[in-house]
Parts: sequence; structure tokens; C-alpha cells
Amino acid sequence: QDTQTGLQLDNQFAREVPGMCVPWRPAPAPAPRWLQFNEALAHELGLDAQALRGDAGLAVFSGQQIPEGAEPVAQAYAGHQFGHYSPRLGDGRALLLGEIVAPSGQRFDLAFKGSGPTPFARNGDGKAAVGPVLREFLVAEAMHVMGVPTTRVLAAVATGEVIRRERPLPGAILARVAASHLRVGSFEYAARARDTSLLGQLAEHAIARHAPQLSGQPQRYLGLLEQVVERQAQLIAQWMGLGFIHGVMNTDNMTISGQTIDYGPCAFMEHFDPETVFSSIDQEGRYAWTNQPAIAHWNLSRLAEALLPLIDEDETRAAELATAILNRYESHLSTCWSDLLRSKVGLPDGADGASRLAAEYLRLLQRSKVDFTLGWRRLGEAAAGNDAPLRALFGEHVAALDEWLARWRKLFGNVPGSERAQAMAKVNPMVIPRNHLVEQALEAATDYDDLAPFERLLAEVRRPYDTRADDDPYIQPATREATANYQTF
Ligand code: AMP
Ligand code: MG
Ligand code: MG
Repeated sequence: QDTQTGLQLDNQFAREVPGMCVPWRPAPAPAPRWLQFNEALAHELGLDAQALRGDAGLAVFSGQQIPEGAEPVAQAYAGHQFGHYSPRLGDGRALLLGEIVAPSGQRFDLAFKGSGPTPFARNGDGKAAVGPVLREFLVAEAMHVMGVPTTRVLAAVATGEVIRRERPLPGAILARVAASHLRVGSFEYAARARDTSLLGQLAEHAIARHAPQLSGQPQRYLGLLEQVVERQAQLIAQWMGLGFIHGVMNTDNMTISGQTIDYGPCAFMEHFDPETVFSSIDQEGRYAWTNQPAIAHWNLSRLAEALLPLIDEDETRAAELATAILNRYESHLSTCWSDLLRSKVGLPDGADGASRLAAEYLRLLQRSKVDFTLGWRRLGEAAAGNDAPLRALFGEHVAALDEWLARWRKLFGNVPGSERAQAMAKVNPMVIPRNHLVEQALEAATDYDDLAPFERLLAEVRRPYDTRADDDPYIQPATREATANYQTF
């Protein structure tokens, strides 16, 4: 245990899978300053928030002070990036500081990002900039409060360094908390290593950590695959329901835990276009909103391939077993998705035709290019009898909406509309991190050291379901022109 901060960090990963990490140290920040500390998360983890948000915490989160007992490592992994295999990616600018056991008994990784180059850095500088660090903080918090499994940021500090990107930018380090950092790419790495025992070590470690109910069972590797398939199907359905676009669904950015990881060029869709892509490097739209379910399946197939040697000695048999599990992905996803859509239209109980009606509403939103967030939220208001704000979103397509609304109301049965409205307001957020507001907040922090817009936006996205006035700036979509040119990096 660290006497200054009370941090107690274990090294289970490094002990159990030493062949997939190298001991490494963070590069100390020259002049660290706080950007943000996540009090709520600190409390959930049973940490000493007071010590951590003070100078002792700043020394740790800036890489100046390694907590006593910690043995930071850079983790190795491989990955398919935009479909192309890279045998050696790994933590180029990240470090696993250690593992925290929360009061619940659950183990979490505490890891840095932006803490300097490691042996996996290739040509990268190992650094991160203030803007992307704050984006990860904000979007992860938004996802968390909306019930999406996600890694989160415990602390973000500015390093006092200037780093080189398209223009000089202030540097930063974030401290990420994750159920683990095991990825599909971790298994790809182990599967292609010369040492065949590595894959077994990694799989046993993953099972103990994420699927302990399978420990010791003869078909536990297949069970692990099945669990990842189910969790990813659930996760992708949740992304889709919020209009979330991850942006870099490479296999190294897909977790075994089922948490969202690596908030890089991610963004929320505004007017509904299934082909929406924001990432500047995704020229072909591989990771567009509508492609995410299929890409997840593709990534899961890479995980299945990696696990084959453990599943059965007979390759053909192993492939048959794994394929049978992979084939269930689609039905898991479609169950999760249609349950979610029904709850979003306020018909969770599955009245006759509810799923079809819900899917029709999605098509209406698409045809009218309605703002994805408001299109759902205003439907809840319509359930309570207030149709006008919803109808205003549909422009020339309002007749089709009216026809749909009439059929929808017929399914309400005895449950009063106001009750439906209340339930809908708990699944359809009113506030998401709007792209133009995120950019303004990151710009103020980057160019003027002004964290106030960021903190205001963070406070708003932490209460996404509360009702806001019609003129509230946090609910307004950007203009269509601004959205058309919006790019993330
Ligand atoms: P990502 O696209 O964020 O998933 O990162 C892909 C790979 O590039 C990972 O191995 C990262 O560690 C590495 N990487 C990204 N940016 C940097 C950087 N600035 N310095 C060193 N490595 C980096
Ligand atoms: Mg990554
Ligand atoms: Mg990244």
C-alpha cells in the first residue's frame, strides 16, 4: 500500500501472464496540473478521494511518483487495424499501473495513457493531448450514466509539455479504470506467439477474471468465447440505441470484458443517417454506425480463431464448435436490439406487433433525418399527450408520423400514457455529448486553460435523462452544415 495516497495495487496480470508484458516506468511530467478528478468513481472503487485529488495524487497521476508496491508494465497485444493484421501493437503510450480490488470484490485495472513511449511505441511519441484526454473522460462518463458498460477515467492531468501534432498541443495523461485491458488483440498476440503455453495462461487469466463460473470446466474456452459474444452483442445494441459511433473498432480496441474501450475518434450521431462516420481516418466508412454490428462479428471471429488451439486438438472439430457459438451472435444481437427498441418506444412488454412497430419508427426517423436523440426523447413526450415537439422534428414527413402514432397508441392498452412516458424518459436521454459542445469545451481547455465549459458540459451529461426546457443549449443539435463537416481525429 502507498502511504501517501492509500493506493493498493496488485499485479495479477504480470504474475500470471508475464510473457505478455514488460516492466516499464512512466515519463514524469515536467509541470503537472490537474485537469479533472473523478470523485464519484474514486468512491465506487473505495479509494481515498481526498488524498488522491491532492498533491500526492497529482504526483502519482503525472508519473512523477510510482505508488509504493506498484510495478507498472506495458502490455503486449496484436490486432487487426482496418482489417490488416499487426502482430505487435501493445501499449505504445499506455502503462498498466496495477489492479485495484474494489469494496465489491471486483478487480479493476488502473492504467495510464499518454505517460511516455514504451518498447511498443514504434514511431509514436508516447504522449496524449489535453483535448482527447478530456474527450475520453467526458464520453466515458456519459456512457456510464446511460448504463453502457465502459472503461472510465479516474484522473486527467496536464503535463506542462507541448506535444507535436498537426499543431503544437498541450500534453496530458489520463488514468483509466477498466474491468481489464484484455482485448481480442491480446488473444491474437498469444495465439501467434511461438510459445504455445502463453495462450493457455492468457485464457485461464481471462476466465478467472471475467468468467469465474467457468473455471475448471472442460469446455471453458468455448464458454469464454460465448460470454464475449453475448456481452459484445449487448454492448453493440446499446451503442446503436444511443447513436454512438466508436470510430476505431479494430480488434485491439474490443475488450473481453464487454466494456467500451478507447474513446478516440468516437462521436454521437445527430441527424439520423446510418452511414454516418466521423473519423478522419475511416475513409471507407468501415466503422460507420450501421456497420458496427457486422464489424463486431468480424472481430469476434478473430477471437474465435485465436482460441481454436485451446478448444479442441482436432482443428476441424474446434472450428465447428467455435462456429456454432459465433453463429449465435446474430440472434443475441437481434434479441438485445429489439428489446431495446421496444423499450425506447415505450412498449417493453412485447404487445403483438410491438417489435415491428418499433423498427418502423426507426425507419421513420431515418427517412426524415431526424436528430437521433430528440427523435426518441420527444416520442416519450408524445406518449404523455404532447405531440407538438415531436411533430415539429418531422417536417414534410409528418403525415407518416401521425399514421404511425395512431397505430402506436392502439398498443398502449390499460397502461396510462403518462406512465409510458416516464419509463421512456429513463431509456431515451435528453442530453448526450453534442459534438459542437464537446469541441467548444475541448478548445477552451486546450487553447485557454479554461476548464469551465468542460465542467459545465460534464455536469449536464451526468444527468442525461432529466427534462430540460426547449431552449436549453445542451439539447440543441448542431446545424446540418456543421454536422456535415464534422470530423474527429
Ligand atoms: P489506437 O488506434 O488508439 O487503438 O492505437 C493503436 C496503437 O498505436 C496502440 O498500440 C497504441 O499504443 C499506439 N499508439 C497510438 N498513439 C501513440 C503515440 N502517440 N505514441 C506511441 N504509441 C501510440
Ligand atoms: Mg487502442
Ligand atoms: Mg486510441
